[in-house]
Amino acid sequence: MDDVWDVVIVGAGPAGSAAALRARQLRPDARILLLDRASFPRDKACGDGIAAHARAELATLGLPDLIADHRPARRLSVISPGGARVLATVARPNHVVPRLVFDARLVEAARSRGIEVRRHRVRALAHGGDHVVLDGAVRAGTVIAADGANSAVRRLIGIPASPDRHTAIAVRGYADVPADDDVQLIAMQREGWPAYAWSFPVGDGTANVGFGMLLPELRATGLPGREVLHGRLARLLPHLPARDLRAHHLPLSTGRPKPGAGRVLLAGDAGSFINPLTGEGIYYALLTGRLAAEAAVLSPAGPLPAYRRSLRRALGRHLVTTDLLARASRHPAFIDAAIETAARRGDVFDLLVDVGLGSGTVPPSLAAAVARRWLGSAVRG
Ligand SMILES: Cc1cc2nc3c(=O)[nH]c(=O)nc-3n(C[C@H](O)[C@H](O)[C@H](O)COP(=O)(O)OP(=O)(O)OC[C@H]3O[C@@H](n4cnc5c(N)ncnc54)[C@H](O)[C@@H]3O)c2cc1C
Repeated sequence: MDDVWDVVIVGAGPAGSAAALRARQLRPDARILLLDRASFPRDKACGDGIAAHARAELATLGLPDLIADHRPARRLSVISPGGARVLATVARPNHVVPRLVFDARLVEAARSRGIEVRRHRVRALAHGGDHVVLDGAVRAGTVIAADGANSAVRRLIGIPASPDRHTAIAVRGYADVPADDDVQLIAMQREGWPAYAWSFPVGDGTANVGFGMLLPELRATGLPGREVLHGRLARLLPHLPARDLRAHHLPLSTGRPKPGAGRVLLAGDAGSFINPLTGEGIYYALLTGRLAAEAAVLSPAGPLPAYRRSLRRALGRHLVTTDLLARASRHPAFIDAAIETAARRGDVFDLLVDVGLGSGTVPPSLAAAVARRWLGSAVRG
């Protein structure tokens, strides 16, 4: 076999490209192969919201200006399921960049740093003693599975897909908006809760609009998924008729599996790294792709234990926080209380943004403040 690599990355979305870029940064002499079944540019169903935290990851990868030509999104409005509202300026601006553009730029950056990018769909995997063989032909010291929500590699190493109760499904489209519309809107819904619609203006007279809900809630309607998702989006944002509708699953971090097996590491959606409160996954994809690459090139003899350790350091407390918050937020009144608190206190708003879009945690004093409000409203109600 002469197709031999130190690291083979399957999937060239944000997780895979970040992994390739990081591996190259740390070991310029490493043999790194990036595979994707699609050729780029390629579309991906997404809200296109790039959190400030993701931008910081891009800087770590040596790409601080990758999206600098896009308008910063400074204002965020959130409406809770019970109708509580907050509209505030975020501490660090987010961006909205269509994935057709964003992912292609990442792949191009990897290519320009000398990484071999191949169009190839992985269908088979075999474990060797100190290596993995893909499709009987490509030999890798470590495989990083960054092949998205329906990861074939994850299946091939015997890790099942996320359980339905930890999986959301969302549809996105594009609508015309005034060019000066610069408010990112998240409108949560009581019907079928947890569910929300969004409008994320791109800055060019269009906005990415969409609607998402949990898979069991969708199934409970008994109707075809397309009818439910398209219908609810049209009903919730009637003034923003959407085109190019496209839906996809979101495996939420509350159902995350072990992060790999043997010499195969799961990053991004393949590892179910999606924030259960917001559906944010690009920051996690960049971060976990980077951490997987660090484990692969710095600990080639035992990449999985190294990856586990760095995941725990970077995301351990945050994931426990979002696990707990996701459970509490099953009661919409909890989210109402959190948004009411954020509307009155800028520090709470910043913290919720950090938890929903980054790797923030909740200090006990804030948890107590929200709990008091929640209990107060329960007693009143
Ligand atoms: C409707 C919707 C809205 C969302 N909105 C946001 C948002 O606004 N902000 C945010 O941060 N997150 C959002 N997310 C989540 C975000 O899209 C994902 O978390 C993110 O794309 C994960 O990146 P990834 O690199 O892990 O996977 P992906 O971006 O899915 O990339 C996986 C790649 O693997 C390739 N691939 C798949 N199978 C194979 C195979 N067998 N062989 C080779 N290649 C393969 C695919 O072609 C693809 O290029 C949203 C998700 C949905 C569905």
